[in-house]
Amino acid sequence: MDPSIALNRIADIVGDRGIIGPSDAAAYLVDHRALYSGAAAAIVAPASTDEVAAVLRICNEACIGVVPQAGNTGYCGGATPFDAERQIVLSLARMRQIHRVDPVGFTLTADAGVILADAQAAAEHEGLLLPLSLGSEGSCRIGGNLSTNAGGLNVVRYGMARDLVLGLEVVLPSGDVLSDLKGLRKDNTGYDLKQLFIGAEGTLGVITAAVLKLFAQPRSVQTAWLAVTDVDAANAVVGLARRSTGDMLVSAEYLSRTSLALVLEHLDGARDPLAVAHEHYLLIELAGPLDELQSRALLERLLEEELAAGRVVDGAIAESNAQRDALWALRESIPEGERHAGQCVKHDISIPIAEIPAFLDEARRRLMPIAAHRLSVFGHLGDGNLHYNLVPPAGEAFAPETAAALTGMLYDYIDEIGGSFSAEHGIGIFRRDELARYKSPLSLEIMRSIKATLDPHGIMNPGKLFDAPDA
Ligand code: ZN
Repeated sequence: MDPSIALNRIADIVGDRGIIGPSDAAAYLVDHRALYSGAAAAIVAPASTDEVAAVLRICNEACIGVVPQAGNTGYCGGATPFDAERQIVLSLARMRQIHRVDPVGFTLTADAGVILADAQAAAEHEGLLLPLSLGSEGSCRIGGNLSTNAGGLNVVRYGMARDLVLGLEVVLPSGDVLSDLKGLRKDNTGYDLKQLFIGAEGTLGVITAAVLKLFAQPRSVQTAWLAVTDVDAANAVVGLARRSTGDMLVSAEYLSRTSLALVLEHLDGARDPLAVAHEHYLLIELAGPLDELQSRALLERLLEEELAAGRVVDGAIAESNAQRDALWALRESIPEGERHAGQCVKHDISIPIAEIPAFLDEARRRLMPIAAHRLSVFGHLGDGNLHYNLVPPAGEAFAPETAAALTGMLYDYIDEIGGSFSAEHGIGIFRRDELARYKSPLSLEIMRSIKATLDPHGIMNPGKLFDAPDA
């Protein structure tokens, strides 16, 4: 089928409201970090699963690439199209109905275009908790969260996005709909097919709806900002916080002094919670079944013990929601602080938790001789996931080959010690070469054979995860 005939047929299916015009196109063609500026033959926004299926059927027949896009907040260019003639963006933004919150089964059923914060609010309205939480939750959408297997701030207690999924509805490239929205907790009937599409970054099909797990709302939340002696001590505090509270620890974020300093230097109104500067910080949060007084007492006892043990050297407990928000704002403003400091070389890495202190020492030893830099390390210590970002000296920029040398040295070392070069941000197009280099050949072979089976014409998100096959 000629592409122009296919595009006309797609326009007929989705109607005027389903075609995004040129004046609104820019937001769909540039990725969140503005690393990539793409092009597409059309930006299509279907209103239903049936419309998605009809669009995919045509694209499959005409060999038109389909780039699914939800909130477009990803970090790896995974939702950016790169062909003005033979690719369309398929936006899920019009599919934003929350179908059901089931207070008996503790589930939420929603379309892929539902904004994460709206899903959280719908659960909360029933006294329940959707624990998936990340910095972009006001604009990211469920379909993207699942397609990228988002991580975020509560993984230490509740797991990654894939741990929260009970069912999916997926449109395959053929236009067939693989639907399992029963929301069963237990269903041992062969391969868990939904997991194939979670984290697949839209390369196998389009997620159109999901059933997510809900939990009880905690009765109270306690938030503390701690200065710790070193990263070993931070690990010990996190471990004790889990054991001594019966796993009430829902967040365990590490911040280096450099990361905090970037926020304090560049953001108006940001204030150091402690009187004296320290090299290492932990932002921890407890939440659970205890009331305000009981959970506060538990946190204070934990801090007293850790102060006595010398691992914690100073700290502040949030006394109000405003103080809690201010502490979290420091953590969540780090990417912005880094942006002001120059073009950083960023990494989202996973390290076996116990080996993080040794990793930090050795990585510094290996990277420093390559180029002068400041090291902004922060992230989800409780998950072994660090954002390991290199900041150029003030007023300077890394040459591209220097940046590549730093990243290459870091990833080779991470590979040596059994870590991962992409913990929660995924691959997209940004880390495609690294996937080819560091993923085992057997894993890659199985991934490619799954791709070939489900998407034989290679229309789904071409060039993401893998190189696009030669046309
Ligand atoms: Zn993160």
